[in-house]
Amino acid sequence: MIGGGIAGLAVATILAQRGARVEVLEQAAQIAEVGAGLQISPNGAVVLRAMGLGDRLRGAGMRAGAVELCDGPSGARVTRLDLGALRAGQAYYFMHRADLIDLLADAARAAGAVISTGQTVTGVEGGEVRIGAATRRADLVIGADGLRSTARAALNGRAVPFFTHQVAWRALIPEAGARPEVTVHMGPGRHLVSYPLRGGGLRNLVAVEERHRWTEEGWHHRDLPDNLRAAFAGFGGPVPGWLDRLSEVHLWGLFRHPVAPVWHEGGHLAILGDAAHPTLPFLAQGANMALEDAWTLALALDGGEAPDAALARWQAARQPRVRRIVEAANRNARAYHLRGPMRGLAHLGLRLGGALAPGLALSRFDWLYGHDVTAGAKGAA
Ligand SMILES: Cc1cc2nc3c(=O)[nH]c(=O)nc-3n(C[C@H](O)[C@H](O)[C@H](O)COP(=O)(O)OP(=O)(O)OC[C@H]3O[C@@H](n4cnc5c(N)ncnc54)[C@H](O)[C@@H]3O)c2cc1C
Repeated sequence: MIGGGIAGLAVATILAQRGARVEVLEQAAQIAEVGAGLQISPNGAVVLRAMGLGDRLRGAGMRAGAVELCDGPSGARVTRLDLGALRAGQAYYFMHRADLIDLLADAARAAGAVISTGQTVTGVEGGEVRIGAATRRADLVIGADGLRSTARAALNGRAVPFFTHQVAWRALIPEAGARPEVTVHMGPGRHLVSYPLRGGGLRNLVAVEERHRWTEEGWHHRDLPDNLRAAFAGFGGPVPGWLDRLSEVHLWGLFRHPVAPVWHEGGHLAILGDAAHPTLPFLAQGANMALEDAWTLALALDGGEAPDAALARWQAARQPRVRRIVEAANRNARAYHLRGPMRGLAHLGLRLGGALAPGLALSRFDWLYGHDVTAGAKGAA
């Protein structure tokens, strides 16, 4: 396994739970995560539960109660989706990324997988990986090495992503006793998503702005808090109070990547997660897709079929869903950033929809949240 992120640790755990010998090669000196939040929607939560991690998910995550869309400048509520109306058994969580990585790494080790850190894979060919001057072989190499995947490049060549003319800041601020709700404050050309973490002691902010200047892709570029404050200076409601509490802020450019056409080769190399299908963050599905991939890939490999046939069947089954999610995320950005009369009309439509048929708005997401890749699995905890 190349990469000890969400996809790599999840698939390593599930494969090891099913008796495979697995080693995870992670480039970082230790398994750790950046300080940021994640939304784990019901389609991702079912995978964690089927892995036997239901209790840890409930312990480390915050069960989300509602999604609220607000007008950015006035702060007024436009509409509210009550997540209590999700179908029975479905739950939506907010989690600190570090907590998810911790629980997956614990699960991988408990299942017998070996996690080797400080191992940067520099080349992949068939069932062989290069780490500096050394070469390692495996029956199957799985590339879970994220956005700049070496394994994806080996299968598909290097694709050039295109800049969406959107940048995003992320920040965590101290908070006290916040309600377990995700709010989206929408303004012309910008929006800000916010939700609490760790029992309400922290608040996660992701703020997106349209801009023409190019900004680098990647999670680790610092920016000045004042730049984020200036971009959202016209916003009302709770936003100015949140921006006052900023201390550390990161900025990155949002790029659109095509879904990789080829996910496997010859039964000895496969890719999953962001390596196969990076997505814009506007539907909060990257980690959830990684969890779905992990479950379905492990199951396909454990089905008794020859690896090549199993991987081909897996890719054919997964790609249409993944494309649909990535395209839906692309469309969401435009809806949040409307300007002029379209903006008033869209908000009116959302208000009326929310007032007249509150359940209907949520049922639009049934295809996404109601999808259970573990349906039929025995021993789900
Ligand atoms: C702002 C933002 C908010 C998001 N919010 C959400 C959300 O709310 N919900 C959601 O579902 N998703 C969300 N996502 C998406 C989600 O974070 C990613 O889709 C997810 O982390 C993908 O997991 P992965 O394991 O495929 O890749 P990664 O998490 O990127 O992990 C890849 C791992 O591989 C390692 N690696 C890379 N190259 C090598 C190499 N050559 N050798 C060895 N190791 C290597 C890396 O160090 C890393 O540990 C968000 C993303 C962003 C940017």
